[in-house]
Amino acid sequence: MEAGRFSIVVGDITQSDAEAIVNAANTTLLGGSGVDGAIHAAAGPGLLEECRTLGGCETGHAKLTGGYRLPSRYVLHTPGPIWRGGGHGEAALLASCYRSCLTLAAEHGIQTVDFPSISTGVYGYPMAQAAPVALRTILDFLSDHELPRQVRLVCRREETAAVYRQAWNLWYAES
Ligand code: ADP
Repeated sequence: MEAGRFSIVVGDITQSDAEAIVNAANTTLLGGSGVDGAIHAAAGPGLLEECRTLGGCETGHAKLTGGYRLPSRYVLHTPGPIWRGGGHGEAALLASCYRSCLTLAAEHGIQTVDFPSISTGVYGYPMAQAAPVALRTILDFLSDHELPRQVRLVCRREETAAVYRQAWNLWYAES
C-alpha cells in the first residue's frame, strides 16, 4: 500500500471534508445517539427522510445516502455489532462493517472516506480490541484496491486516537 493513504486524526466527523463519512448507525437507520445523532443533526431532516426509504440495514452491512447539509457528499451507514463478551462473532461483524463501507465506496468511485470508531461508544466494544480489527481490515482493503484513495479514522477524543495509533504501530511491527 502506498504510504499516506491512511491516517488517524482527532476531530468531529460532521465537519469532515471527505467525500464520504461513515455513520456508526443502528439497524433501523433512523438515527440514534452518539455520532449517529451528531451526523443527523448536522445533515438536517433530508437525511432521515432518505433513511426512511431504505428499510433498515443488517449489522455488518452498509448503505449509502446523500450528505445533505454536511460538507461530505455521501454518508455510508453501517450498524456495528453490540459487544456481548466477544464470543458472538463481534470481531467478524466489526471487520465486515469496515469492509462493506469501503466496498460500497469503491463501487461508487468515492475517493476519500472518513470513519468514526465503530461500536466503541454505546455499543460497548472494548477500544483495545476494536482498534486492531479496524486497522487490519482497512489496511488489507487498501492494499488490494485503488479506491478509496484516502481513508481516515476520525476520533472524537485524543485517548481513542492513541489506542488506534498503538494498534497501527503493532501492525507495522508485525508486517
Ligand atoms: P456505537 O453505537 O457504534 O458504539 P457511538 O456513536 O456511541 O457508536 O460511538 C462511536 C464512537 O464515535 C465513539 O468513539 C465516540 O466517541 C465517537 N463519536 C461521537 N461523536 C463523534 C463525532 N462527532 N465525530 C467523530 N466521532 C464521534
